[in-house]
Amino acid sequence: MAFDSLSEKLQNVFKNLRGKGRLTEADVKVALKEVKMALLEADVNFKVVKNFIKSVQERAVGQDVMTSLTPGQMVIKIVNEEMVKLMGDETTELVLKPASELTVIMMCGLQGAGKTTTTAKIAGKLKQKGRKPLLVACDVYRPAAIKQLQINGEKQGVEVFSMGDGHKPVNIAKAAIEHAHKNGFNVVILDTAGRLHIDEDMMTELIEIKENVDVTQTVLVVDAMTGQDAVNVAETFNGKIGVDGVIITKLDGDTRGGAALSIRAVTGRPILYVGMGEKLSDLEQFYPDRMASRILG
Ligand code: GDP
Repeated sequence: MAFDSLSEKLQNVFKNLRGKGRLTEADVKVALKEVKMALLEADVNFKVVKNFIKSVQERAVGQDVMTSLTPGQMVIKIVNEEMVKLMGDETTELVLKPASELTVIMMCGLQGAGKTTTTAKIAGKLKQKGRKPLLVACDVYRPAAIKQLQINGEKQGVEVFSMGDGHKPVNIAKAAIEHAHKNGFNVVILDTAGRLHIDEDMMTELIEIKENVDVTQTVLVVDAMTGQDAVNVAETFNGKIGVDGVIITKLDGDTRGGAALSIRAVTGRPILYVGMGEKLSDLEQFYPDRMASRILG
């Protein structure tokens, strides 16, 4: 499970803090230095860690904390609160138009991030909510991706719209929207093509879709296992095409988890869901407070 190592380290720091009756400023500084090291080792973005520690320190060395009956506990509480803030405070939902209108969600991300799987997972969630989603195969470069979407769509009981690999993604998107209007679908989810690396053609293709189709939400899928690369990918996508929300996959794996703690702070974009496994049901809503509790133990 992600964060195991970070959790263990933080819990040790907290144990020491709790054990002390009174705290000096020096005690707090030492503890925060250890928190800082633990976060850096968990691959949290350097600037994010620096600001985080600064915020905690400013609050933790104040009079109220140092003279309180349980200063250690107070410092732990501040770390917790700042960590929740780091991840966005509130839970952010995928924005959907009213069911009587058509919502268009454009999924994007690098190849292998888990985009196609996550697209099908989201379709399942929307179906559970009583929506009528249509999955759209816009990845025209990998026939296997189209097939994979079809298989996953079938598992979810959701129709998949495909025109094979002989059309431009923007035209497939337009045709899918027309199909959705005619057939009573109220959410269209576009599974766009990824690349192994950030690539101008990929960005141009996504921009072309956004310019020609009324995209309600652009959702970026990144792989937690890639650590700070995931954060850089998110920053680049957001800068080039504008991202409304991020989904972090493979948080069930043995990742250090730094991406989950950095993305919101670096990009300003919320995490919507986290992928917790390969099964189509393994997608969890992202709750900053629960994630902080999971990390802090
Ligand atoms: P795409 O190239 O971005 O469309 O990626 P895929 O959807 O094909 O996923 C790539 C691999 O990651 C597949 O083997 C998926 O089963 C796997 N995968 C996707 N999401 C998760 C997740 O949350 N956890 C785990 N463990 N594996 C995932």
